[in-house]
Amino acid sequence: MRFTEFNFHPDLLEGIEASNYETATPVQEQVIPPILAGKDIIASAQTGTGKTAAFLLPIMHRLLQKETSGHVRALIIVPTRELAIQISQHIEGLSYFTSISSLAVYGGSDAQNFVGEKKALQMGADIIVCTPGRLIAHLNMGYVSIKGLEFLVLDEADRMLDMGFSDDINRIIAHLPAKRQTLLFSATMPPKIRKLAQQILVNPIEINIAISRPPEKIVQRAFVVYEQQKLPLVKYLLTKTPYKSVLIFCSRKQNVKLLTRMLRQNGFPVEEMHSDLVQSQRENVLMSFTSGRVPILVATDILSRGIDIDTIDLVINYDVPRDGEDYVHRIGRTARAEADGMAFTLVGEKEQNSFAAIETLIDRTVEKAVLPQFLGDGPEWSPRKKTGSRRPQKKFYKRKPQQR
Ligand code: AMP
Repeated sequence: MRFTEFNFHPDLLEGIEASNYETATPVQEQVIPPILAGKDIIASAQTGTGKTAAFLLPIMHRLLQKETSGHVRALIIVPTRELAIQISQHIEGLSYFTSISSLAVYGGSDAQNFVGEKKALQMGADIIVCTPGRLIAHLNMGYVSIKGLEFLVLDEADRMLDMGFSDDINRIIAHLPAKRQTLLFSATMPPKIRKLAQQILVNPIEINIAISRPPEKIVQRAFVVYEQQKLPLVKYLLTKTPYKSVLIFCSRKQNVKLLTRMLRQNGFPVEEMHSDLVQSQRENVLMSFTSGRVPILVATDILSRGIDIDTIDLVINYDVPRDGEDYVHRIGRTARAEADGMAFTLVGEKEQNSFAAIETLIDRTVEKAVLPQFLGDGPEWSPRKKTGSRRPQKKFYKRKPQQR
């Protein structure tokens, strides 16, 4: 379906054209018409499917139907500042030829930023993209005019609940008018998301695009290794694989720091990203990486979702993520839009069961690659035998909310 068929406002169509979008993705085809019709929506869609534009475009079209009124008209709540910044850049691109104003409001910035956000909130930007905590800080001060809100979007809702934002979200919703259109996007649909949906949506249309499977075009390989083989293998892969940008994921920030240090010592141009960095450091790191100045980034799962950098052609999982959905999100960072990508996972001895469970989740056996000769043999691939368990692993261990 071409974008011209949605009857979008001409100024918006210009932005769509300038963004080089021609045909709508499946999630856009399904989600845009009911949003234009004013329906509440609960949608499960993976990142990389075009879901951001799927909610932004119809909201922006409807905002353009009325004069701006000096108050906040659409609120998009997201789990991380990186996602807030990215969505706000998306808005800037798509709304470039329109009069729509927008603002990203996220925590961790300096006092000057807070003052800037306060001014913009007082003047009433049309669209606010925010992390929950930071918006509450502003709401508590009493100057945010949110009573005339028309649209509420919760993006990556499952991740927000996992991060412990449930109370914050409820507090924000208590400030909003009951008559509004609410859109809830979530990669997964656990019972707690259904419960939240029942509380905040009215007669929602349910759209299910998510399959917990990575796009077919990503070439996936697993290397079954002993722990001490991981670092030499990463160095080997970084030397032998052609790539423009590599994202290496570690589950713990200690490992991110350690691996970054080791790679630097070996002369690799590498940056690190984790929750110990302050906002300005995170922005600098992302800038160096997205601009291609530094081609290797080692990160925690802080970067596994939402972040859209279309030059990443290789993802390396230094360890197996404990949550299968994280695997899908991590490797989904490569092969964005039309590009191809590769995803290598280093499966340590104790991680075999987790990886086998991921294969079940994505309904696919990932090819086990042969180790380079100089590393010697790795352990045998025998996931269930290792723990003596005869039952297939049904559930992933779910992390407690934590800083990554
Ligand atoms: P998202 O799933 O929202 O993170 O989007 C993934 C990527 O697809 C982003 O780079 C978008 O700019 C891009 N994208 C979204 N919609 C389209 C479309 N209809 N045609 C081409 N690219 C798109």
